[in-house]
Amino acid sequence: MGIGTILAKGELSREDLVSLLTAEGEARSRLRKSAAEIRDHEIGNRVYFRGLIEFSNICGKDCYYCGIRRSNRKVHRYNLSDDQILKAARFAHEQNYGSLVLQSGELASPAFTDRIEHLLREIKKLSGNSLGITLSLGEQEREVYQRWFEAGAHRYLLRIESSSPRIYRRLHPQDSLHSFERRLECLSILRSIGYQTGTGVMIGLPFQDPGALADDLLLMKSVDVDMVGMGPYIEHPDTPLFKFRHELLPIGERFELALNMIAALRILMPDINIAAATALQAIDPMGREKAIKAGANIIMPNITPGKYRNDYALYENKPCVDEEPDECLNCLDVRVQLADSRIGYGEWGDSLRFRRRVRHDPGP
Ligand code: SAM
Ligand code: SF4
Repeated sequence: MGIGTILAKGELSREDLVSLLTAEGEARSRLRKSAAEIRDHEIGNRVYFRGLIEFSNICGKDCYYCGIRRSNRKVHRYNLSDDQILKAARFAHEQNYGSLVLQSGELASPAFTDRIEHLLREIKKLSGNSLGITLSLGEQEREVYQRWFEAGAHRYLLRIESSSPRIYRRLHPQDSLHSFERRLECLSILRSIGYQTGTGVMIGLPFQDPGALADDLLLMKSVDVDMVGMGPYIEHPDTPLFKFRHELLPIGERFELALNMIAALRILMPDINIAAATALQAIDPMGREKAIKAGANIIMPNITPGKYRNDYALYENKPCVDEEPDECLNCLDVRVQLADSRIGYGEWGDSLRFRRRVRHDPGP
């Protein structure tokens, strides 16, 4: 079936999605152009910033793909002080970003819960309640998610990594800390509390074919997520998954596949927020701009103090590790303009899907 016929369909099947994901040449250009048009028509052409603070690389988990996994002894571990985090938050506020993301390795303890709760309240205070806050702190108990929600967080990003339990098992140790079912359950808890709920996957993993990626997209649709952050898998030499590097698609193909995933998702779920993942930029300096041209609408400028960025090495060639936050801002402003979009300064840029959902479903 030709790309035009698929794009004209009201409902996309798994087979249609596989065709979109594997589109090349002229068909690929049409797919991405069509996705950007759908975004502009459905939610507008504004791109929103989420200042990303990677405040600690200390992690209690051991995901096989991740450079900061617990068992990697080569990592220099850091944990920003509250003052450093609040300084970065103030920077995001002064730059009129609208929102920030607090992300770290996964820790679960009463002290960690208290700390995040305190930071959330302080960030709300220093910005006069105006900064929107997304958390990306992994799996936690319902009570913890609830406390953080009440302290001011309103979006949560928890990638499912792969919608296939079989692939998930090959990416993680077989223990209760790394359970696929628990990850799904957390997404459902987050949603029931009232968070704008985001998930995502890595693209171009070993053991993953286009059919598995089509299933990932269908899962996002069936869970009815409000936002998605997904990007290419990039191998890290000090991780167990590195031994499968010979089975991977060449990095350039993983990049193109990730852009096709973004475009296909925009067509499947026109009114959600889709982030242009930092991993895209690690492969191509214009990666995030290309993602915007393929239908994404969120960019996460890294505002972690420069000297710590090298240590948050999930994969090789992480971009902008030598830059300080203000340098990062200058290069981004120009880039978004290159992608024919405008920056929604000072706005939360909430997911339209979420706003429609809560209007119809007041929740428990
Ligand atoms: N620890 C939290 C968690 O896992 O949800 C949040 C931080 S974790 C570093 C954020 C995301 O980084 C993960 O969900 C995973 O998809 C991504 N990631 C980790 N290693 C990666 C790699 N080698 N290539 C691409 N993305 C990676
Ligand atoms: Fe820890 Fe998240 Fe990396 Fe897994 S992906 S090892 S939970 S930081």
